[in-house]
Amino acid sequence: MARLIVVLGDQLTHSISSLSQASKADDVVLMAEPVGEATYVRHHKKKIAFILSAMRHFAQELKDDGWTVHYRATDERLPSFTAAVEAELQAGAFESITICEAGEWRVQEEIDSWEQRFGLPVTVLKDSRFLASKQDFAQWAEGRKALRMEYFYREMRRKTGLLMEGDKPAGGKWNFDSDNRKPAKADLFMPRPIEFTPDAITQNVLSLVDQHYGDHFGSLEPFWFAVRREQALAALDHFIETALPEFGTYQDAMLTGERFLYHSVLSLYLNVGLLEPMEVCRRTEEAYLVGRVPINAAEGFIRQIIGWREYIRGFYWLQGPDYGSSNFFGASRPLPEFYWSGDTNMVCLREAITQTKEEAYAHHIQRLMVTGNFAMLAGIDPHAVHEWYLAVYADAFEWVEMPNTLGMSQFADGGLLASKPYAGSGRYIDRMSDYCQHCVYDPAERTGEKACPFNALYWDFLERNREVLAGNPRLGPIFATWGRMADEKRAAVLSHAAALLNKLDAL
Ligand SMILES: Cc1cc2nc3c(=O)[nH]c(=O)nc-3n(C[C@H](O)[C@H](O)[C@H](O)COP(=O)(O)OP(=O)(O)OC[C@H]3O[C@@H](n4cnc5c(N)ncnc54)[C@H](O)[C@@H]3O)c2cc1C
Ligand code: SF4
Repeated sequence: MARLIVVLGDQLTHSISSLSQASKADDVVLMAEPVGEATYVRHHKKKIAFILSAMRHFAQELKDDGWTVHYRATDERLPSFTAAVEAELQAGAFESITICEAGEWRVQEEIDSWEQRFGLPVTVLKDSRFLASKQDFAQWAEGRKALRMEYFYREMRRKTGLLMEGDKPAGGKWNFDSDNRKPAKADLFMPRPIEFTPDAITQNVLSLVDQHYGDHFGSLEPFWFAVRREQALAALDHFIETALPEFGTYQDAMLTGERFLYHSVLSLYLNVGLLEPMEVCRRTEEAYLVGRVPINAAEGFIRQIIGWREYIRGFYWLQGPDYGSSNFFGASRPLPEFYWSGDTNMVCLREAITQTKEEAYAHHIQRLMVTGNFAMLAGIDPHAVHEWYLAVYADAFEWVEMPNTLGMSQFADGGLLASKPYAGSGRYIDRMSDYCQHCVYDPAERTGEKACPFNALYWDFLERNREVLAGNPRLGPIFATWGRMADEKRAAVLSHAAALLNKLDAL
């Protein structure tokens, strides 16, 4: 009897463990597009189109390669993966179910219920696409007082041998971040990610998304993402050729109208499995070894993938499903309406949100220091912030989005992931971007009608949370600066912040 091999929408890798252990001749692959997966948060239209199109192309590739694939499309209106498996088991006899472990708690819990529900053995295999398994990460974390990415990253460098010269890091340092803080100038050559024309499969998916999910956030077209592995590899080559050399230097920069700068726009391909982390890093290392990219770029980029990406994933599984309800500051304000419309006078937020609507993409500093920072300073309910990030980005899957949002950007876990809140005033945004030059607000002012809202909200955030933050050694100098301000000035800042918080939607 055949085994049922279930392949999920973020498991589009031909060497995935579930397929590696299956038999082309005997087994049946099940892929499905449950409606519940597109709607449990109302995902961006472009994100849904990307995943469905990539899934349909992957299914076609499997069929061309000789696999038997049963594909249950959106039109069947199946609510969940469980319903898809149930329909399959009703239609045919299977001896067992095999699946690669899910990317997130919600889906893994669903899978864990199958054995009892269907009365069949269910084999859950490890996801070998990650360099550190959940168990490796838990072992590394055991007994440590604080989990910090930098130490984990060094272990990953040693484990993979990437950018290593014997047991020493290439270039003599583990981390070249101090070279990577330059603001970008508008007259620099700006590469663009490679764009792909939708083929017939993608065109069908675009119509389907318009029909079923037309009222979701964001623009569906123009649609230019890669949806096949071959295209994703071309996107990787194009990035290495055109943008990687400057990736490090301008990693934290932001510029009006420049949506991608020197970023790779590869996260979505990595996260669904069209690219594998090690192949991306090996190609980056090769470019460094032949002298095409400097060490600060190669190291900075590889650190994002074998450092941050792996660390975030290990952290997510280590924390458990309750991590999602973290709310260290007890923040409870609703998300301002302009997070959905982009309709705000604050240019930094308008730029980040408008491009998010149009591209389902914003780069890291926009997510962290613009939309994330503002939400934290304004005391927005972190769960609402989490749901927003999960819905609006094409690369958003809970395992990577949640620790980045709740831990890194909102400090909602009280410092399990970050050693201090990533809070910044208008001055930070002014230093790293040209947004403020086009804004009605002034980043140098703290109070008054024209004052940048980030400024008063920044001090108000610290004051509001003094009790839980004052003991943080990294914030000591900032509280000291606040303390040195004249009483009337402090009172004026807090009163301005209160007025801003009362009219967030009007800013
Ligand atoms: C609030 C917030 C939410 C985020 N949500 C997501 C998300 O849902 N999905 C996601 O993949 N990333 C998320 N990130 C991390 C990061 O912003 C994106 O990975 C990055 O912007 C993707 O664009 P890129 O491919 O051009 O990245 P690049 O800047 O080119 O970086 C290269 C690669 O490194 C990896 N990477 C970089 N930073 C991180 C990080 N902090 N965590 C994990 N991987 C990282 C990504 O795979 C990325 O493709 C989030 C960050 C913040 C602050
Ligand atoms: S002045 Fe303030 S609100 Fe305006 S762009 Fe600068 S940081 Fe953003």
